[in-house]
Amino acid sequence: MTDTTTPADRIAALDPDALRERYRHERDRRLRPDGSAQYRRAAGEFGYYAKDPYTERTERAPLTDRVEVLVVGGGFGGLLTGARLREAGFGSIRMMDEAGDFGGTWYWNRYPGIHCDIEASVYMPLLEETGYLPTMRYAPGEEIRRHAVRIAEQYGLYRDAVFQTRVTELTWDEDGAEWLVRTDRGDAMRARYVVVSSGTLTQPKLPGIPGIEDFRGHTFHTSRWDYGYTGGSADGGMTGLADKRVAVVGTGATGLQVIPHVARDAAHLYVMQRTPSSVDVRDNRPTDPAWAASLRPGWQRERMENFLAILSGEDVAEDLVGDGWTSTARLQRQMITGAVDTTLDPAERERRDELADFAKMDLIRARVDEVVADPATAEALKPWYRYMCKRPGFSDQYLQAFNRDDVTLVDTADHSGITRMTETSVVVGDAEYEVDCVIFATGFEVGVSGVVSGTMPVHGRGGTTLLEAWGRGPRTLHGFFSHGFPNLFHLGAMQNANSVNFVHILTEQAEHLAAVLARAAKTGARYVEPTAEAEQAWCDTILDVTVDNSAFLAECTPGYYNGEGTRRATPTSYSPGPVAFHRLLAEWREGDMRDVLVPPVDELAV
Ligand code: NAP
Repeated sequence: MTDTTTPADRIAALDPDALRERYRHERDRRLRPDGSAQYRRAAGEFGYYAKDPYTERTERAPLTDRVEVLVVGGGFGGLLTGARLREAGFGSIRMMDEAGDFGGTWYWNRYPGIHCDIEASVYMPLLEETGYLPTMRYAPGEEIRRHAVRIAEQYGLYRDAVFQTRVTELTWDEDGAEWLVRTDRGDAMRARYVVVSSGTLTQPKLPGIPGIEDFRGHTFHTSRWDYGYTGGSADGGMTGLADKRVAVVGTGATGLQVIPHVARDAAHLYVMQRTPSSVDVRDNRPTDPAWAASLRPGWQRERMENFLAILSGEDVAEDLVGDGWTSTARLQRQMITGAVDTTLDPAERERRDELADFAKMDLIRARVDEVVADPATAEALKPWYRYMCKRPGFSDQYLQAFNRDDVTLVDTADHSGITRMTETSVVVGDAEYEVDCVIFATGFEVGVSGVVSGTMPVHGRGGTTLLEAWGRGPRTLHGFFSHGFPNLFHLGAMQNANSVNFVHILTEQAEHLAAVLARAAKTGARYVEPTAEAEQAWCDTILDVTVDNSAFLAECTPGYYNGEGTRRATPTSYSPGPVAFHRLLAEWREGDMRDVLVPPVDELAV
């Protein structure tokens, strides 16, 4: 039967008070006093959950050599930096990563069904530079991983690269004006410049389920997929699961992609759900050859900027990507700040935004009813919260999987997740589910990077550590560099820009750093370091412009966006949004960079 309800009918039928009450009820069911402490690190006795299943460890002699630039992190941030520095003429670049190859998150995450949920034409960087065109609108993970390798090869970034290596300490050597870099391989190498691009969601986390260590069946985390056990590949075909009862724990962006594949291949699948994701239409399809043939030089930059501008609330004449992200840009503003419509007073704006949000989530819930045959299962799969309380999901296979007889949805919300595990089972309340394998799709620790989490101690000028200098929060100029820590650069959202298309942010960051280092080389600067005044001014700016979204977060179901219900927002980025921030950076680059070049510009041979 065709639903003839119009959007206006839908909005008119909404009962905002009842919805608010239902949202609060659903939040309260899930709030736990232990917040983020409910999780365990995949380290120590759980270290095997983080072990690299893809590359054998190879031994090598410690390095004591010297490079001009060390880039820590071989994901797209590091690769883009390496590529732009090569273009700027830097010959001596060492890339370093804990993984066995380039790719960052796409190296680690190879689970069945993995795709990027951002359109590949704006997500995959350097497409025109490498002459590559994605095969699908939303590219499979393996295609993206290979693209990372393609970039590394094209820009000569394998030369001098070291993998399976983690920085354990960075110490500034004032006399040599360089960093001494120690690693877990016993290296004591030196680098004039160090760029840290180690990502934010990298370390797999596990729920602190009582008895998790007692389970005698097979178990692993989605970011370390054990194809040796399951058989098959990221495209499916996991014959090893044909006689296995499998539990998948977690229904976030990863769970949504994994679950249809495990449903197809396992003897029986139990989906352990705590909070349902919103699941909108995906509509993935092969790249249209006619569209590909129509592209003119500069197309990717134009498309990326168009996507970013729409998501940042800027006025744009045309929506080039036109997908589930761009059509909900207004709803994303609660979490991803940017330009706002100032023609309305804030209360009226919030009233309209909330109504639009209710209407969107109503459609998302209606889709569950349309797709899922069993009414009780459909009811349990409906998300009751504002659109941006969780990362929005997209799939044309996920909800459909629950129509299979060999898939059981287990709603754990009333028990704050799984109650306990035994040698053979997963227990929720009084119900026990005997399984052969438990797969954790439970996400990642949210850190800013090793330098902030303390796993990579940084000793700056005079021995001061970065954590001491940042005692009450990050202190940087534009998020990139800090006073007292010469020639050290950070990539990431902190005091910089943020977007769901984070690769775009990294693209701008890499270009900015390359421009600064090229200017330092041209002027003969001894090092790059912001003045204390410039750093303070930027910290003040960040504070001044920060939009307080704690009221929004407080109403949300718990998750990593709101510190698991503690309302702690993610580290602050520049609230006027990435478009405004990139404009600000471009203007700053037009200047003499006297804020960061040491000695000051007037003493340099400009
Ligand atoms: P996630 O969003 O943190 O989801 C973790 C899941 O595990 C949630 O459903 C959570 O439920 C559940 N969970 C945690 N503890 C549990 C317990 N004790 N019992 C039952 N369930 C439990 O992790 P993710 O899905 O791996 O995604 C992480 C991030 O990676 C995403 O937000 C996104 O940024 C990125 N990602 C991106 C893509 C892409 O295509 N670009 C794809 C995958 C991931 P609650 O919600 O109740 O906490």
